Amino acid sequence: MFGGQLWTRTPDFNNRLINIDIDRNNPLFVQSLYSLLRGEEELAAPKVTLYWTCKTPEGWKRYPAAIGRNGKIRPRFAQVGTAQKFFETGHYECRYLESGKTVWKNVGEEAAIAQAHQLHTSRLLTAQIAAEAAGTVIIETPGRVNLRTKAKEYEERQIARGKKRAAVTFKQAVEEFMSVVRVPYADSLTEPLIMRWYAALRAKKNSDRTIYNKHVSVFGFLSWAGVDTKKLTAKAPTFTEKAVEVYRADELKTFFASLSNPYHRIVFEVLLKTGLRMQEAMHLEWHQLDFKTGTLTVRERNEDGFEIKDRAERTLPIPADLIRHLRAWKEEHGGKFVLGTSNDTPNWKWLPLLKRLVRQAGFNCGHCVGCKEQNECERWYLHKFRATYTTFLLRSGIDPRTVMQYTGHADMATVMRYLSPAELPDTQKKVNSIACGD
Ligand SMILES: [Zn+2]
Repeated sequence: MFGGQLWTRTPDFNNRLINIDIDRNNPLFVQSLYSLLRGEEELAAPKVTLYWTCKTPEGWKRYPAAIGRNGKIRPRFAQVGTAQKFFETGHYECRYLESGKTVWKNVGEEAAIAQAHQLHTSRLLTAQIAAEAAGTVIIETPGRVNLRTKAKEYEERQIARGKKRAAVTFKQAVEEFMSVVRVPYADSLTEPLIMRWYAALRAKKNSDRTIYNKHVSVFGFLSWAGVDTKKLTAKAPTFTEKAVEVYRADELKTFFASLSNPYHRIVFEVLLKTGLRMQEAMHLEWHQLDFKTGTLTVRERNEDGFEIKDRAERTLPIPADLIRHLRAWKEEHGGKFVLGTSNDTPNWKWLPLLKRLVRQAGFNCGHCVGCKEQNECERWYLHKFRATYTTFLLRSGIDPRTVMQYTGHADMATVMRYLSPAELPDTQKKVNSIACGD
């Protein structure tokens, strides 16, 4: 009796699933398969070897893929005798025996994906041998898109392309998606399942914007995997763009007036007057400042604080008063980090610090959920300094492209969000000054 499905999991690749249709009612097969997978059986597990087929000065060659000390493939390195050599151009191939014949399968250029293919093939062949031993046959379902396997591949691609942030977002979104739809194959997805997913997100109090973002992330993956997404949902869920929140001038004035500790002053002044992201400010080092030109050079960092290598540096001007304050701060404190802790390490406690200072100064609004539940006002947060900075630049009449350059925003659309026309105080003045030539 065919048609049952068995999934085996390979722990090395995050429980990557292999889906095979098997005779589940054949206990001999199942027993044989498990003992094979556990390595208890005498039957030789089939060997799948990974090769880096590459362009060398002597022409195209096939070498075993080089394995690093961590057990992972070293991307684009070939094992040449005892040496590991780098060859830029090439692709990976899996070599294995199938019915006594040697098979070479091209598994692409990306090392992580190639290694995942190698494991997948090895497990599948193992299952086939077990099946033969038990007198049954395995049919790998061809042409069906296994969502988990594909999602893993998609995620690895994103990481390989330096889109780490997008990969993290995608991983969380797709896991949530899978836990709701609960079908292994893409062809089992239906519109009601998608609706159920939206409903589940709403039930979990996801905002409209978050639901929209998760939809974009998961559907981007589905269409990449060849799924006809138009059949699944007529259109993306809608959301209303929230207005950008910025600090008002009088709020800032009273807040800064309430600060007595010079460290607190300089931290929030830097955040407000440079618009740096928290990671950038935390890791800001003195050599990034040029007091002569009054500029600051910065490269974006990911959420772990590491610089993102493929992102260009940006240089932004520092207001004259901040330069003076920074000079004085440097003379007194020195060290490596501009805004480091007393031990000269990056300080990641600014958010609780801000919440505490605001509360102590009596600035809690008293109305928000944060105020009511934790005595921590939601209207004060670090990113709002950056939003205030961006809005300020735009309102000062600096053109959006220059603003984008200073703030390091990835696209113009994001910058334009800070230009909500109703809030432009200058508009009235400018409208008033339209002359009719009289
Ligand atoms: Zn509040």
